[in-house]
Amino acid sequence: MKIHEYQSRRLLADAGVPVPPADVVESVADAVAAHQKIGGRVVVKAQVFAGGRGKAGFVKLCDTPDQTRQAAEFMLTNKMVSKQTGPAGVPVSRLLVAAAVDIAQEYYVGMVVDRARRCPVMMVSREGGVEIEEVAARHPEAIIKEWLHPHLGLQPYQVRKLTQALGFTRKEHVQAAAKVFLGLADVFLRYDASLAEINPLVLTRDGELMAIDAKINFDDNALFRHPDVQAMHDPTEENASELRAKAANLSYIALDGNIGCLVNGAGLAMATMDLIKLHGGEPANFLDVGGSVTREGAVEAFRIILADPKVKGVLVNIFGGIAKCDTIAEALVAAAKEVGFRVPVVVRLEGTNVEKARQILSTADVPGLITAADLTDAAKKVCAAV
Ligand code: GDP
Ligand code: MN
Repeated sequence: MKIHEYQSRRLLADAGVPVPPADVVESVADAVAAHQKIGGRVVVKAQVFAGGRGKAGFVKLCDTPDQTRQAAEFMLTNKMVSKQTGPAGVPVSRLLVAAAVDIAQEYYVGMVVDRARRCPVMMVSREGGVEIEEVAARHPEAIIKEWLHPHLGLQPYQVRKLTQALGFTRKEHVQAAAKVFLGLADVFLRYDASLAEINPLVLTRDGELMAIDAKINFDDNALFRHPDVQAMHDPTEENASELRAKAANLSYIALDGNIGCLVNGAGLAMATMDLIKLHGGEPANFLDVGGSVTREGAVEAFRIILADPKVKGVLVNIFGGIAKCDTIAEALVAAAKEVGFRVPVVVRLEGTNVEKARQILSTADVPGLITAADLTDAAKKVCAAV
């Protein structure tokens, strides 16, 4: 699960990380009022899950309330397009108005789970700011890492190493940096985060260290332990199809290709996507209907797949175990009647009740339906069809 920058800032501030004062607003008038309240120079920032806002013009420094009015008007009426949003962009409905700081130096501090080492890792860099992806790709040596013991957490010697890596020598900087690292590690571990990032962490011209951007993602499997995190969920920022799927108990992830996939079981879904790719196609989604799928659930799955205008063909791949082939066949017939198949649908069914399923499909005579003998045959047919 993702949360907004303003929510991440609050969690970090509560853990002792210095963050400039800020207000969250949803209208131009409130943005102007926030500027007047905060005073001086402010920074107006679009609150969307995608990054790259600075480069997209959705982080703006404003010296006067009038500049804030213009910035807020622009951000609330234009979609933000950045490297992370895709060409369609995302709408903005909320803004952060924060006291601006005078930056002497920008740093990067982040934490993720290192899957290979099976423990959290803290990463720091002196090259923080909007180019961090470039730094990671071109100069990986400029990112210094410390791996945390899963039970012991961030140790004092590691804090010293990281502080040194950022080049801090003055006592007050070293102490301030230690507070930031410990605060970040505390938030990451306490809330079962999968990513926690401060980019940039800045040294101000007054010699203070402050987090002026923050991003935290959480491990969905641990959310049950954190009702306070769950309460921060903002469904309006998520992919509409993914939300619909979640409501129907389907595991669905939208992808960029044009072949819709309806599969039972995550492993089979992965294998299906691999086979589509092997035969020159590109999957439009990952969809696991799960073991206990009902007819209604499967019909909803068809609706979700076919609602995606990119989809030019569908591959249904079911290995009937607990999920029965005839349930899927009935859903296919129902979906064909209800939504109509505007694209070819290739079906491969095997396993429990497959004979019954074949009978249902042959009597219903669904137009646009192509049956396949096995997985490879199915993948070839759907790739040929699109
Ligand atoms: P991102 O582009 O989505 O990561 O948004 P950030 O919040 O990181 O802002 C992008 C850049 O805007 C930062 O790297 C800073 O260079 C600049 N910026 C953001 N807030 C301030 C501020 O308070 N003062 C100054 N001078 N620059 C800022
Ligand atoms: Mn940033």
